[in-house]
Amino acid sequence: MGIRTAEEYIDSLRDGRKVMFRGKWVDDVTLHPEIRKAIDHASIDFKLSDDPRWKDLFTYAEDGNIYSVFYKVPSSASDLLQRKRAIEVATTYGKTIVTLIHEIGSDAIFALLRIAYLCDRKNGTSYFERVKQFYELARDQDLAIAVAQTDAKGDRDKSPKEQPFEYHYLKIVKRTNEGIVVRGAKVHTSVSVNSNAIIVLPTRAMKDGESAYAVSFWLWANSPGLTLVASPYLSGDRNGNEYPISSKHKMFETVTIFDDVFVPWEQVFLAGETEFAGLLALAFVDFHRFTAVSYKLPLLDAILGCANLIARYNGISNAAHVREKIARLIVYVQTVKSLLEAGARAGHMEDPGIFVPDSVSVNLAKYHFATNFHTALRDLQDLTGGLLVTYPSPQDFEDNIVGELLNKYLATSYSSAKERMQLINLISELTASDLSGYHSVLAVHAEGSIEAEKIAITRGYDVDKAIATSLYMAGIQDEPVL
Ligand SMILES: Cc1cc2nc3c(=O)[nH]c(=O)nc-3n(C[C@H](O)[C@H](O)[C@H](O)COP(=O)(O)OP(=O)(O)OC[C@H]3O[C@@H](n4cnc5c(N)ncnc54)[C@H](O)[C@@H]3O)c2cc1C
Repeated sequence: MGIRTAEEYIDSLRDGRKVMFRGKWVDDVTLHPEIRKAIDHASIDFKLSDDPRWKDLFTYAEDGNIYSVFYKVPSSASDLLQRKRAIEVATTYGKTIVTLIHEIGSDAIFALLRIAYLCDRKNGTSYFERVKQFYELARDQDLAIAVAQTDAKGDRDKSPKEQPFEYHYLKIVKRTNEGIVVRGAKVHTSVSVNSNAIIVLPTRAMKDGESAYAVSFWLWANSPGLTLVASPYLSGDRNGNEYPISSKHKMFETVTIFDDVFVPWEQVFLAGETEFAGLLALAFVDFHRFTAVSYKLPLLDAILGCANLIARYNGISNAAHVREKIARLIVYVQTVKSLLEAGARAGHMEDPGIFVPDSVSVNLAKYHFATNFHTALRDLQDLTGGLLVTYPSPQDFEDNIVGELLNKYLATSYSSAKERMQLINLISELTASDLSGYHSVLAVHAEGSIEAEKIAITRGYDVDKAIATSLYMAGIQDEPVL
């Protein structure tokens, strides 16, 4: 098949999966008004693969077949840059919300290919062939895939086997000739309600005695025993004027409960090899943080663009403090972009032939993005003014008398009231709404917390070389290490 149409994708989601939304079971996700919004949003990926303007970016050819570009295993920096560009374009059409249904799953597959290969070489297992088969299935059927990595985790100061509740981390409870049975819950699983399949990865390194927690596999989203409890955050009726983004675009997260779910061996990628759990968790992050920063770029451009526009509309573009704030935003946005591109260019080849982004640059990009994001929102709020939370409704403008007055009072010499309000509605969504809360938490936590990024940066930086330089300059060593 190779490439699916949006309609084929939507039809494939009518599979009897078990989804709960606000305490009620959802019979058909495609008919549920909230989930349908997320499905239509995710359809952007399929539409762009079929759009003559974007086909070349969103697809690639291999052995006479055409596939989604997200399933192209990167073999060079330019493959990574193409992937980045595709994510950026899809997220721009999604008005700052990533589609994710191809991106996160392929990130996990690339990590699995690397770690299964290592594990087979060390332990004589046969995981690599299974991962490869799943990769081909996903690519050939153009599957939408969610990734459930983050466990419920319980007490953060305890490891999986020390938890008061045995299943705070997903655990293998039975092994048979046919497969394994798992119990536990993963949290924050994005796009699971509108994906065909779910890849499960370990969330952390495991210690001796924790082999039952070192588990990875894939499942169809309608597998028996699997329950998706969808978050209501950002749901509810919202009109397109006041909410230009979230009225049409949405991503769902679930608490993903595995109630003694059976997984056949052909779908198992790790089952007890403790030393590979942490490696797999980190290998996923190598790709997924690259995806993460790629999809932040349209949000950053929106913030920067809005800052420039509102300064113009409000007549403050030439004020010194405004120029200073806009310069600061440009420095912020361009630093994130440059670090991400450096991450692609400084990538390296890993067995079995996958080009991996440079971990230090990508984690720096994500860290810099996350630690400065709230300041950027504050600067944009500052330039915009209080109308962010006191704006009259679009319906008020439709009243003959009041509308005419509003048009006079809320216009400036540089903008009509209508366009100024349209822009303020967008900025309000980006900086003062439940969507901005979502983006803010996403910035801090999604794809790993700020501390996780800091750990990756400090672990990856060559401190020994810096120490050797100091030893040479102090005269303690005769030669520097160059
Ligand atoms: C919108 C959104 C979408 C997401 N999508 C996905 C997804 O699709 N799939 C997926 O698997 N995950 C997903 N995540 C999960 C994301 O990766 C986690 O939120 C992130 O790893 C943080 O984990 P946590 O939420 O459990 O917070 P915690 O890890 O509990 O972090 C809270 C605080 O505790 C600190 N902390 C945690 N453990 C320790 C410790 N041992 N010692 C000291 N400090 C500690 C952290 O540094 C942080 O400051 C998503 C998250 C969000 C917000």
